[in-house]
Amino acid sequence: MLLFFQSPLPAGVRYALVFILAIASAFASAQTPNSPAADDSDDFSLTPPRVVARRVADSSWYVQGLGALGSSANQNFISNAAFVVTPAGVVVIDALGSPVLADQLMAEISKVTPLAVTHVIVTHYHADHIYGLQSFKAKGARIIAHRAAKEYLHSDTALIRLEASRQTLAPWIDNSTRLIPADDWIDGPTDLIIGGVRFLLQPVGPSHTPEDLVVYLPKEKILFAGDLVFRGRIPYVGQADSGHWIKSLQTLLDFETATIVPGHGPLSAQARHDMELTRDYLVFLRETMSQAAKNMEPFDDAYRATNWARFEGLPLFRIANRMNAYNTYLLMERDAQ
Ligand SMILES: [Zn+2]
Repeated sequence: MLLFFQSPLPAGVRYALVFILAIASAFASAQTPNSPAADDSDDFSLTPPRVVARRVADSSWYVQGLGALGSSANQNFISNAAFVVTPAGVVVIDALGSPVLADQLMAEISKVTPLAVTHVIVTHYHADHIYGLQSFKAKGARIIAHRAAKEYLHSDTALIRLEASRQTLAPWIDNSTRLIPADDWIDGPTDLIIGGVRFLLQPVGPSHTPEDLVVYLPKEKILFAGDLVFRGRIPYVGQADSGHWIKSLQTLLDFETATIVPGHGPLSAQARHDMELTRDYLVFLRETMSQAAKNMEPFDDAYRATNWARFEGLPLFRIANRMNAYNTYLLMERDAQ
Protein backbone atom coordinates (compact mmCIF):
# COMPACT_ATOMS: atom_id res chain seq x y z
CA MET A 1 0.00 0.00 0.00
CA LEU A 2 2.81 2.41 0.76
CA LEU A 3 4.62 3.01 -2.47
CA PHE A 4 6.88 5.86 -1.47
CA PHE A 5 10.02 4.66 -3.04
CA GLN A 6 9.67 5.05 -6.77
CA SER A 7 13.22 6.31 -6.93
CA PRO A 8 14.38 8.00 -10.13
CA LEU A 9 18.00 7.22 -9.25
CA PRO A 10 19.52 4.25 -11.11
CA ALA A 11 20.17 1.31 -8.80
CA GLY A 12 23.95 1.60 -9.28
CA VAL A 13 24.01 5.17 -8.06
CA ARG A 14 21.71 4.33 -5.20
CA TYR A 15 23.86 1.47 -3.97
CA ALA A 16 27.01 3.54 -4.30
CA LEU A 17 25.38 6.16 -2.09
CA VAL A 18 24.23 3.52 0.36
CA PHE A 19 27.76 2.21 0.50
CA ILE A 20 29.21 5.67 1.15
CA LEU A 21 26.67 6.31 3.89
CA ALA A 22 27.38 2.92 5.43
CA ILE A 23 31.11 3.63 5.49
CA ALA A 24 30.58 7.10 6.94
CA SER A 25 28.31 5.70 9.59
CA ALA A 26 30.70 2.88 10.49
CA PHE A 27 33.52 5.41 10.74
CA ALA A 28 31.45 7.60 13.04
CA SER A 29 30.55 4.58 15.19
CA ALA A 30 34.17 3.56 15.44
CA GLN A 31 34.95 6.91 17.02
CA THR A 32 32.26 6.71 19.64
CA PRO A 33 34.06 4.77 22.40
CA ASN A 34 36.71 7.50 22.71
CA SER A 35 34.20 10.26 22.76
CA PRO A 36 32.79 11.89 25.86
CA ALA A 37 29.46 10.52 27.02
CA ALA A 38 26.58 12.63 25.81
CA ASP A 39 24.84 12.88 29.12
CA ASP A 40 24.56 11.09 32.41
CA SER A 41 23.86 7.74 30.75
CA ASP A 42 26.87 5.52 30.20
CA ASP A 43 28.02 4.32 26.83
CA PHE A 44 26.32 0.94 26.66
CA SER A 45 27.25 0.37 23.05
CA LEU A 46 28.55 -3.14 23.70
CA THR A 47 25.53 -4.39 25.63
CA PRO A 48 21.91 -4.51 24.47
CA PRO A 49 20.07 -1.42 25.58
CA ARG A 50 17.33 -1.41 28.18
CA VAL A 51 14.23 0.60 27.51
CA VAL A 52 13.01 1.69 30.94
CA ALA A 53 10.09 4.03 31.52
CA ARG A 54 10.85 6.78 34.02
CA ARG A 55 8.19 8.97 35.50
CA VAL A 56 8.13 12.62 34.51
CA ALA A 57 4.91 13.72 36.22
CA ASP A 58 1.55 12.26 37.32
CA SER A 59 0.50 11.15 33.86
CA SER A 60 3.77 11.29 31.93
CA TRP A 61 6.74 8.98 31.44
CA TYR A 62 9.74 8.87 29.18
CA VAL A 63 12.49 6.51 28.11
CA GLN A 64 16.00 7.80 27.58
CA GLY A 65 18.16 6.70 24.67
CA LEU A 66 21.89 6.23 24.92
CA GLY A 67 24.37 9.01 24.36
CA ALA A 68 25.86 7.21 21.38
CA LEU A 69 25.52 6.87 17.65
CA GLY A 70 23.13 4.26 16.32
CA SER A 71 24.57 0.77 15.90
CA SER A 72 23.53 -2.85 15.65
CA ALA A 73 24.69 -3.32 19.24
CA ASN A 74 22.41 -0.62 20.63
CA GLN A 75 19.44 -1.36 18.31
CA ASN A 76 19.48 2.35 17.41
CA PHE A 77 18.35 3.31 20.92
CA ILE A 78 19.86 6.78 20.76
CA SER A 79 16.80 8.97 21.16
CA ASN A 80 14.09 9.46 23.74
CA ALA A 81 10.40 8.76 23.55
CA ALA A 82 7.64 9.73 25.96
CA PHE A 83 4.07 8.78 26.75
CA VAL A 84 1.14 10.39 28.47
CA VAL A 85 -1.65 8.29 29.95
CA THR A 86 -5.11 9.80 29.52
CA PRO A 87 -8.47 8.29 30.57
CA ALA A 88 -9.12 7.48 26.88
CA GLY A 89 -5.77 5.92 25.99
CA VAL A 90 -2.07 6.55 25.74
CA VAL A 91 -0.45 9.26 23.64
CA VAL A 92 3.12 8.48 22.63
CA ILE A 93 5.61 11.12 21.53
CA ASP A 94 8.16 9.71 19.06
CA ALA A 95 8.51 6.06 18.15
CA LEU A 96 12.21 5.27 18.79
CA GLY A 97 14.79 4.06 16.30
CA SER A 98 13.70 0.51 15.43
CA PRO A 99 10.54 -1.62 15.59
CA VAL A 100 12.05 -3.80 18.32
CA LEU A 101 12.56 -0.74 20.52
CA ALA A 102 8.97 0.36 19.91
CA ASP A 103 7.83 -3.09 21.09
CA GLN A 104 9.91 -2.65 24.23
CA LEU A 105 8.37 0.76 24.79
CA MET A 106 4.89 -0.74 24.48
CA ALA A 107 5.87 -3.38 27.03
CA GLU A 108 6.89 -0.60 29.41
CA ILE A 109 3.59 1.21 28.79
CA SER A 110 1.65 -1.94 29.61
CA LYS A 111 3.35 -2.06 33.03
CA VAL A 112 1.80 1.35 33.76
CA THR A 113 -1.65 1.04 32.19
CA PRO A 114 -3.85 -1.52 30.42
CA LEU A 115 -5.00 1.21 28.00
CA ALA A 116 -4.01 1.07 24.35
CA VAL A 117 -1.80 3.57 22.53
CA THR A 118 -4.28 5.67 20.57
CA HIS A 119 -1.92 8.28 19.07
CA VAL A 120 1.74 8.73 18.24
CA ILE A 121 2.94 12.29 17.71
CA VAL A 122 6.13 12.55 15.66
CA THR A 123 8.39 15.48 16.51
CA HIS A 124 10.33 15.02 13.24
CA TYR A 125 11.09 12.31 10.72
CA HIS A 126 14.70 11.50 11.60
CA ALA A 127 15.44 7.79 11.62
CA ASP A 128 16.10 7.49 15.34
CA HIS A 129 12.64 8.90 16.11
CA ILE A 130 10.52 7.09 13.51
CA TYR A 131 11.79 3.62 12.59
CA GLY A 132 9.59 2.24 15.38
CA LEU A 133 6.37 3.71 13.93
CA GLN A 134 5.26 0.54 12.18
CA SER A 135 4.93 -1.30 15.51
CA PHE A 136 2.49 1.31 16.82
CA LYS A 137 0.66 1.43 13.52
CA ALA A 138 0.19 -2.34 13.62
CA LYS A 139 -1.55 -1.93 16.98
CA GLY A 140 -3.96 0.63 15.55
CA ALA A 141 -2.46 3.91 16.77
CA ARG A 142 -3.01 7.06 14.72
CA ILE A 143 0.14 8.85 13.68
CA ILE A 144 0.24 12.65 13.79
CA ALA A 145 2.99 14.76 12.24
CA HIS A 146 3.61 18.05 10.53
CA ARG A 147 2.80 18.21 6.84
CA ALA A 148 6.29 19.42 5.92
CA ALA A 149 7.59 15.86 6.48
CA LYS A 150 5.74 14.63 3.40
CA GLU A 151 8.38 15.92 1.04
CA TYR A 152 11.11 14.08 2.93
CA LEU A 153 9.10 10.85 2.99
CA HIS A 154 8.93 10.94 -0.79
CA SER A 155 12.59 11.83 -1.25
CA ASP A 156 15.56 9.75 -2.38
CA THR A 157 17.35 10.83 0.79
CA ALA A 158 14.82 8.99 2.95
CA LEU A 159 15.17 5.88 0.81
CA ILE A 160 18.96 6.02 0.80
CA ARG A 161 19.08 6.45 4.58
CA LEU A 162 16.77 3.50 5.07
CA GLU A 163 18.89 1.35 2.73
CA ALA A 164 22.04 2.39 4.63
CA SER A 165 20.35 1.63 7.96
CA ARG A 166 19.49 -1.87 6.74
CA GLN A 167 23.25 -2.45 6.61
CA THR A 168 24.47 -0.53 9.64
CA LEU A 169 21.57 -1.38 11.96
CA ALA A 170 20.99 -4.99 10.93
CA PRO A 171 19.15 -7.05 11.99
CA TRP A 172 16.96 -4.46 13.76
CA ILE A 173 16.36 -2.55 10.56
CA ASP A 174 15.72 -4.91 7.67
CA ASN A 175 13.65 -5.29 4.51
CA SER A 176 10.44 -5.30 6.53
CA THR A 177 11.21 -1.88 8.02
CA ARG A 178 9.12 0.78 6.34
CA LEU A 179 8.70 4.52 6.50
CA ILE A 180 5.23 5.21 7.86
CA PRO A 181 3.41 8.40 6.89
CA ALA A 182 1.14 10.19 9.33
CA ASP A 183 -2.61 9.54 9.36
CA ASP A 184 -3.15 13.16 10.33
CA TRP A 185 -0.90 15.82 8.85
CA ILE A 186 -1.14 19.11 10.69
CA ASP A 187 -0.29 22.55 9.32
CA GLY A 188 -0.35 24.93 12.24
CA PRO A 189 -0.66 25.05 16.03
CA THR A 190 -3.13 22.31 16.96
CA ASP A 191 -5.01 21.52 20.15
CA LEU A 192 -5.39 17.80 20.58
CA ILE A 193 -7.73 16.74 23.36
CA ILE A 194 -7.61 13.07 24.30
CA GLY A 195 -9.62 11.83 27.27
CA GLY A 196 -9.95 15.41 28.45
CA VAL A 197 -6.19 16.01 28.43
CA ARG A 198 -5.03 18.89 26.30
CA PHE A 199 -1.92 18.62 24.13
CA LEU A 200 -0.72 21.70 22.31
CA LEU A 201 1.12 20.76 19.11
CA GLN A 202 3.30 23.67 18.06
CA PRO A 203 5.11 23.63 14.72
CA VAL A 204 8.61 25.10 15.13
CA GLY A 205 10.19 24.30 11.77
CA PRO A 206 12.09 24.67 9.67
CA SER A 207 14.69 24.43 12.44
CA HIS A 208 16.29 21.06 13.09
CA THR A 209 14.06 19.77 10.26
CA PRO A 210 11.29 21.38 8.16
CA GLU A 211 8.64 19.41 10.07
CA ASP A 212 9.69 20.11 13.67
CA LEU A 213 6.86 19.87 16.17
CA VAL A 214 6.98 20.34 19.90
CA VAL A 215 4.26 19.11 22.22
CA TYR A 216 3.27 21.10 25.27
CA LEU A 217 1.19 19.64 28.07
CA PRO A 218 -0.29 22.65 29.91
CA LYS A 219 -1.63 20.62 32.83
CA GLU A 220 1.80 19.42 33.86
CA LYS A 221 3.80 22.23 32.21
CA ILE A 222 5.88 19.71 30.30
CA LEU A 223 7.47 20.54 26.98
CA PHE A 224 8.33 17.58 24.74
CA ALA A 225 10.88 19.46 22.69
CA GLY A 226 12.05 16.96 20.08
CA ASP A 227 15.50 17.91 18.86
CA LEU A 228 15.03 21.64 19.26
CA VAL A 229 16.46 21.83 22.75
CA PHE A 230 19.47 19.88 23.94
CA ARG A 231 20.32 19.67 27.57
CA GLY A 232 23.84 20.68 28.52
CA ARG A 233 25.34 19.34 25.30
CA ILE A 234 26.20 20.35 21.79
CA PRO A 235 23.34 19.81 19.32
CA TYR A 236 23.76 18.25 15.90
CA VAL A 237 23.10 21.13 13.56
CA GLY A 238 23.23 19.16 10.31
CA GLN A 239 21.41 20.92 7.47
CA ALA A 240 19.29 22.84 9.95
CA ASP A 241 17.98 26.32 9.32
CA SER A 242 19.71 27.74 12.38
CA GLY A 243 18.30 31.23 11.87
CA HIS A 244 14.75 29.95 12.17
CA TRP A 245 15.78 27.56 14.93
CA ILE A 246 16.93 30.54 17.02
CA LYS A 247 13.54 32.23 16.46
CA SER A 248 11.71 29.04 17.44
CA LEU A 249 13.65 28.84 20.68
CA GLN A 250 12.39 32.35 21.42
CA THR A 251 8.83 31.05 20.86
CA LEU A 252 9.46 28.14 23.24
CA LEU A 253 10.85 30.47 25.90
CA ASP A 254 7.33 31.95 26.07
CA PHE A 255 5.77 28.66 27.21
CA GLU A 256 5.50 28.31 30.95
CA THR A 257 7.67 25.20 31.10
CA ALA A 258 8.55 23.36 34.29
CA THR A 259 10.14 20.31 32.68
CA ILE A 260 11.62 19.65 29.26
CA VAL A 261 11.66 16.15 27.86
CA PRO A 262 14.25 16.52 25.12
CA GLY A 263 14.68 14.28 22.09
CA HIS A 264 18.02 13.16 23.47
CA GLY A 265 19.50 13.08 26.94
CA PRO A 266 18.05 13.47 30.41
CA LEU A 267 15.07 15.49 31.56
CA SER A 268 15.60 19.05 32.44
CA ALA A 269 14.07 21.12 35.18
CA GLN A 270 16.13 24.08 33.97
CA ALA A 271 14.09 24.72 30.87
CA ARG A 272 15.09 28.32 30.39
CA HIS A 273 18.78 27.64 30.83
CA ASP A 274 18.75 24.79 28.29
CA MET A 275 16.87 26.74 25.67
CA GLU A 276 19.24 29.64 26.14
CA LEU A 277 22.31 27.42 25.85
CA THR A 278 21.14 25.88 22.57
CA ARG A 279 20.20 29.33 21.29
CA ASP A 280 23.49 30.92 22.35
CA TYR A 281 25.49 28.15 20.70
CA LEU A 282 23.62 28.58 17.42
CA VAL A 283 24.02 32.35 17.59
CA PHE A 284 27.75 31.94 18.23
CA LEU A 285 28.18 29.56 15.28
CA ARG A 286 26.37 31.96 12.97
CA GLU A 287 28.27 35.02 14.15
CA THR A 288 31.74 33.49 13.86
CA MET A 289 31.12 31.62 10.62
CA SER A 290 29.34 34.48 8.87
CA GLN A 291 32.34 36.73 9.58
CA ALA A 292 34.63 34.12 8.03
CA ALA A 293 32.35 33.56 5.03
CA LYS A 294 32.06 37.31 4.45
CA ASN A 295 35.85 37.73 4.57
CA MET A 296 36.25 34.69 2.28
CA GLU A 297 38.49 33.21 4.94
CA PRO A 298 39.02 29.44 4.40
CA PHE A 299 37.00 27.34 6.82
CA ASP A 300 39.99 25.61 8.43
CA ASP A 301 41.61 28.93 9.33
CA ALA A 302 38.37 30.34 10.67
CA TYR A 303 37.74 27.24 12.75
CA ARG A 304 41.21 27.35 14.27
CA ALA A 305 40.97 31.06 14.97
CA THR A 306 37.64 30.79 16.78
CA ASN A 307 37.70 30.78 20.56
CA TRP A 308 35.46 27.83 21.48
CA ALA A 309 36.17 28.11 25.21
CA ARG A 310 32.55 28.67 26.19
CA PHE A 311 31.37 25.41 24.59
CA GLU A 312 34.34 23.05 24.39
CA GLY A 313 33.71 21.53 27.82
CA LEU A 314 30.25 20.36 26.78
CA PRO A 315 29.45 16.74 25.84
CA LEU A 316 29.59 15.94 22.12
CA PHE A 317 31.76 18.98 21.41
CA ARG A 318 34.53 16.83 19.96
CA ILE A 319 32.15 14.77 17.84
CA ALA A 320 29.81 17.44 16.60
CA ASN A 321 31.30 20.91 16.79
CA ARG A 322 33.53 20.92 13.76
CA MET A 323 30.80 19.53 11.50
CA ASN A 324 28.30 22.00 12.98
CA ALA A 325 30.68 24.86 12.30
CA TYR A 326 31.34 23.65 8.77
CA ASN A 327 27.64 23.30 7.95
CA THR A 328 27.03 26.77 9.36
CA TYR A 329 29.94 28.14 7.30
CA LEU A 330 28.37 26.72 4.13
CA LEU A 331 24.98 28.14 5.12
CA MET A 332 26.49 31.57 5.73
CA GLU A 333 28.34 31.42 2.42
CA ARG A 334 25.05 30.69 0.63
CA ASP A 335 23.30 33.48 2.54
CA ALA A 336 26.05 35.92 1.63
CA GLN A 337 25.59 35.29 -2.10
ZN1 LIG B 1 17.14 12.99 17.19
